[in-house]
Amino acid sequence: MSAPLAHGRVLPTLNSDGTRRRIRPRLYQGPHHSRRRVTAWLLIALFAGIPWIEVGGKPLVLLDVPRREFTLVGRTFLPTDGVLLMLLMLSIFVAVIWATALVGRAWCGWACPQTVYMEFLFRPIERLFEGRREDQLRLDREGGGVRRLAKNVAFFLVSALLANIFLSYFVGIKTLLAWTRLSPLQNWTPFLVVAATTGLVFFDFAFFREQMCTVICPYARIQSVLLDKSSLIVGYDKLRGEPRAKGKPRSDRGDCIDCNACVAACPTGIDIRDGLQLECIACAQCADACDGIMAKIKKPLGLIRYGAQTTLETQKPTRMLRPRVVIYPVMLAVLLGALFAFGSQRVPADVTVLRGIGAPFTFDGRAVTGELRIKVQNRTGENARYRIELVGTPAVRLIAPENPLEVAAGAQRTTAVFAVAPRSEFKAGRREIVVRVSGAQGFETSVPYRLLGPSEETNP
Ligand code: SF4
Ligand code: SF4
Repeated sequence: MSAPLAHGRVLPTLNSDGTRRRIRPRLYQGPHHSRRRVTAWLLIALFAGIPWIEVGGKPLVLLDVPRREFTLVGRTFLPTDGVLLMLLMLSIFVAVIWATALVGRAWCGWACPQTVYMEFLFRPIERLFEGRREDQLRLDREGGGVRRLAKNVAFFLVSALLANIFLSYFVGIKTLLAWTRLSPLQNWTPFLVVAATTGLVFFDFAFFREQMCTVICPYARIQSVLLDKSSLIVGYDKLRGEPRAKGKPRSDRGDCIDCNACVAACPTGIDIRDGLQLECIACAQCADACDGIMAKIKKPLGLIRYGAQTTLETQKPTRMLRPRVVIYPVMLAVLLGALFAFGSQRVPADVTVLRGIGAPFTFDGRAVTGELRIKVQNRTGENARYRIELVGTPAVRLIAPENPLEVAAGAQRTTAVFAVAPRSEFKAGRREIVVRVSGAQGFETSVPYRLLGPSEETNP
């Protein structure tokens, strides 16, 4: 028994009986496509190049999740830098919202890895092996055979390369190169990580494709609240195009000749003439397609173009200055200011001096001994040694079993030390001292501490 058919509009990637509708967009090499291709290849070069770049001996970017260390532009951030990371995330979030209010989903069409790799790496490979849209559709109907198999082998190799580059952001390029020299039998975990990532990349670009944008990506879902009618979108000029009519242009009809070139070009399978839709990634492939048709029928270009919804619907100019395009940059400036302020106060270590557990002091009749616990949090990305001293108090001696104290990168250690002072140093049962801890990256801090001892009343 066949499945019941859906009524009304279904997803562009589904047929009305629920089966997958394969999108095979036709390539129109217009000016938008050329500019996007240049942008895409610059981004691909950036993505492949970043793991090789070091700043001050550290990677430009390294997201070491197992060790919970994040290195950006040569500076390592730890979980204790939660405020900084939160401010950074919020800044990126607000910047995306602001950019969306201004230029709509330009990110999706021009810079999102899903679009960049799909349109400028995997689809060109697909056309190389399977030919143009019509040939690909024929292979869909009749079976792909050797050509499709060869294409999938090429896809798999490219996926493996991309997966390796992607992983190098998390493990570092040196570690990754070392892994590639090992047999899987020697190192199963890295091998499985690389294999699983390769499988996911292959699945996404070979099969899942535009569904990542139309079904999975949350950004598409929230765009309706981020955009307003003055945001830049790719839109169809209904006033000029309608009423549409097939065939040669007619003076009593709009400019749209219903040739369907814009629909055939769309990588998400929608018809831009139905208005703004959440599947639209603002790639402007439909605009290039339509401009090609307009040029052929000798009509002005731009029936489909980048523009504000208001302008497309009413031909009135766009209102550039509006509350959201002012409020978002102000929020962004505040966040970046806070990020800078917190970042400039960031120290390479945290030191806490605590009283020892147990009796506050011991007294042997001549000298008083107090136990201190020194807690050192190394906030750098390197192992470091910290020297502990008492300053300005020659009469008080420090006994430290481990000095300097070694603390691993990003780790925290607590060590017990002892301050020994003649009883005469104590006034009213107290002696103020200063503990100095110094270490990596010119770090030095002095912490005041109060030693407790016998008071005069308890004198023997
Ligand atoms: S490509 Fe242009 S003319 Fe052809 S159907 Fe689309 S909007 Fe109409
Ligand atoms: S409608 Fe046009 S701009 Fe939107 S995704 Fe399709 S081709 Fe790209």
